[in-house]
Amino acid sequence: MNPNRRRFLTTSSLALAAATVDLSKLFAQAGRPAPQTPQTAFIPLRGTVGVFTGQGGTIGYHISKEGVVVVDAQMPVTAKICLEGIKERDGGRMIDILVNTHHHGDHTGGNPVFKSSVKKILAHANVPELQRAAAARQAASRPNDPAPEIVVADATFTSTWREDVGGEWMALKYYGAAHTSGDAVVTFEKANVVHMGDLVFNRMHPYIDRPAGASIANWIKVLEHTVADHQNSTTYIFGHGSAKFGVTGARADLLYMRDYLTALLGFVRGEINAGKPKDVIVKITDPLTGFPDHGPLIERVLTPAYEEVTA
Ligand SMILES: [Zn+2]
Repeated sequence: MNPNRRRFLTTSSLALAAATVDLSKLFAQAGRPAPQTPQTAFIPLRGTVGVFTGQGGTIGYHISKEGVVVVDAQMPVTAKICLEGIKERDGGRMIDILVNTHHHGDHTGGNPVFKSSVKKILAHANVPELQRAAAARQAASRPNDPAPEIVVADATFTSTWREDVGGEWMALKYYGAAHTSGDAVVTFEKANVVHMGDLVFNRMHPYIDRPAGASIANWIKVLEHTVADHQNSTTYIFGHGSAKFGVTGARADLLYMRDYLTALLGFVRGEINAGKPKDVIVKITDPLTGFPDHGPLIERVLTPAYEEVTA
């Protein structure tokens, strides 16, 4: 028997067994809280555009009588909730385009849920391969887990893309390597709203995916170019944000993120110049001077910063 099939049957029969008992008791016995339905919300922003929050990266949406766009797909559970909410709001029509701002699982994990309801999935040309490579790495690191289903974009662009979707001009632009090497900035021109994907972690330490081609030095420039290409009044949606500062904001928040990345590189460069070895530098937990909202420094940002400075 195909091992995946056997595993599927095992988990299915477990699921059936679990369905007949009180789940909360089962979890309480295991010393864990019962899983709860994730908190989700649809938040209208401006014109036809809004943001859906659930688990993983934020989802942007544009819904008009003539066209529907969804930006990012989160994970399967909240993707289902989002899709149901979109169908309520658009009268059940096909979604014209699902955009993936980049390949990470918390932005593309819901692609299989959306697939049959969207005409196409659009992403930067590097995204499908990055997504397959990440899935292969994950499968290799967890050989006993069933491989999650992946669905990759079936339409791609390389530098810019622009189209009228139901009366709203939507533009995608690739500014070069930053958070990964496939980050698209998605602009809804009439609504004057931009989805940044993970190019902004609002007042949080970001994830910097060097194996996927990330560049902190270029990320700094990407944020500056994005601000220059938009207006003072543009509203930005961020992939992630701290509870205090949230997942939407303005150009000042992009420049704050730029300053944080500049300070991070400068700090690590200084520590290297002071003669400290890598294993000491990556364990530093003092907050980055001038950026107290981010909390203590963490290895997740210090390691890629060290590797970039010493590359
Ligand atoms: Zn990401």
